[in-house]
Amino acid sequence: MNARLRNATPGALLAVELLVLLVFEARRPLREKTESKWRRDLRNAAVATIAAIPVATVERPVAMRLARMTEQRKFGIVHVARIPEPLRTMVAVVLMDYSMYWWHALTHRVGLLWRFHAVHHVDRDMDASTAFRFHAGDMLLSVLWRALQIAIIGVSPLSYTIWQTSLTLSIAFHHADIELAPALEKRIAWFFVTPHLHGIHHADREDLESANWSSGLTIWDRIHGTFRDDVAHDTLRMGLPAYRDDRDAAFASLMTMPFGAQRDAWVSNHDARA
Ligand SMILES: [Zn+2]
Repeated sequence: MNARLRNATPGALLAVELLVLLVFEARRPLREKTESKWRRDLRNAAVATIAAIPVATVERPVAMRLARMTEQRKFGIVHVARIPEPLRTMVAVVLMDYSMYWWHALTHRVGLLWRFHAVHHVDRDMDASTAFRFHAGDMLLSVLWRALQIAIIGVSPLSYTIWQTSLTLSIAFHHADIELAPALEKRIAWFFVTPHLHGIHHADREDLESANWSSGLTIWDRIHGTFRDDVAHDTLRMGLPAYRDDRDAAFASLMTMPFGAQRDAWVSNHDARA
């Protein structure tokens, strides 16, 4: 495959996936909407565009340079055993997915990280646009973790690109507002995170915050006892109880949210006034 085609493939795959998801989101929505989809999509696109800046200018260059170094020096876990190159690539991708489970857990458990990750969680509706609506600070802080992942695992540029592409496709899918047929959903959930599983993680219930932290394969949640699929989706509301006001959903509030005084995310700002 020539270089230009190889570089264009991840973007083309994502574009096709987003089109398919948009069609199914319109036809088979999983959740009722809280606000106008177009206004939310525009706002999420603005937050995502700003988040794309540290990804393009810091994360990607750092990751690729480090990946080239680990490959040249044969550094990292995947070089411990003599295994064929394709297998090494696969193991690296799987270990990247596993270490993302821990990063996701940290973003919920470490105060500084949660300030930024909470911006992703206050979305009162959840669909494919939520998948990219991260605060730029969340992306910037994740570069440190990414560097550790690459150096410790021994991720090559090829493994990194495969992981990054599959992660992007996976997060677009599991944030999507799509109701799958129960039998199909269950079958996919054996291996991959589904919209139902990730919706449980995004519910405005504290007891579900630590459910379904995987971002690709569901095996990590099963191993660590954080897998939950036993909650009926129609009983769930997306978002965080402390940030249910329209004011909290505004673009400026989202961008400044990590820097101000923090609310207890699980104490409702609505019930208190009602
Ligand atoms: Zn989360």
